[in-house]
Amino acid sequence: MTEVSLDARRVQLALACRMLAQGGLVENVLGHVSMRLGSGRALVRCRGPEEKGLLFTRPSDIRVVDLETGTSDDDRWEPPRELPIHTAVLGARPEVEVVIHAHPPRVVAADLAGVPLVPMIGAYDIPAGRLAAGGIPVHPRGVLITRPELAAEMLESMGDRPVCVLRGHGLVATGATVEEAVTAAFALDTLARIGLTVAGAGGTVVPLPEEDLAELPDLGTEFNDRLMWRHRRALLARQGLDI
Ligand SMILES: [Zn+2]
Repeated sequence: MTEVSLDARRVQLALACRMLAQGGLVENVLGHVSMRLGSGRALVRCRGPEEKGLLFTRPSDIRVVDLETGTSDDDRWEPPRELPIHTAVLGARPEVEVVIHAHPPRVVAADLAGVPLVPMIGAYDIPAGRLAAGGIPVHPRGVLITRPELAAEMLESMGDRPVCVLRGHGLVATGATVEEAVTAAFALDTLARIGLTVAGAGGTVVPLPEEDLAELPDLGTEFNDRLMWRHRRALLARQGLDI
């Protein structure tokens, strides 16, 4: 891999961090993203000497991390304590290239309120409806996932789904691209937001009928992922936060 493409990936992952923070999917400074590099390494969002939180992530905060030793390529940047999340998912799921871990307040609140993340929306947000229709697993432990055995438990809860809700903690979202992983994280947040609004208005969240869900088309990655990525990047630019 050339240095140029590595740098381009750093920019992509830093943008993803900024998008998640700007979208309200991150509580203060917590959360991280990773991208598979091969040979037991990954690009990982680390904490550097000038850490200011995910909204202000810089490409230099994205370091090459050895997943076996848990060390970064520059000791001024410390890998996240929950690196085992990334190590476990990238190790067990060859189709996953990008892993997001965030602490989104709405997703955590919806789960704790007992609001089920079922496909109660369809055409409103098709990626979110389809994600829910496939099932959204919940990992029932609220622990900080700092050890391989804790990550293995989470992986078991997650199964083969692209996302997992971590009770009292946050989410894991994955994708074959950074755009896809970001879309999955936002889709989970949309389900939580709508679910909380319905429950807050005294309603009950119920899935749409099967025949309606069967009508939801896969809009394809250009619309679901790339268009939304450009939209979110434009939102960053409007606030002077593009890279
Ligand atoms: Zn966490």
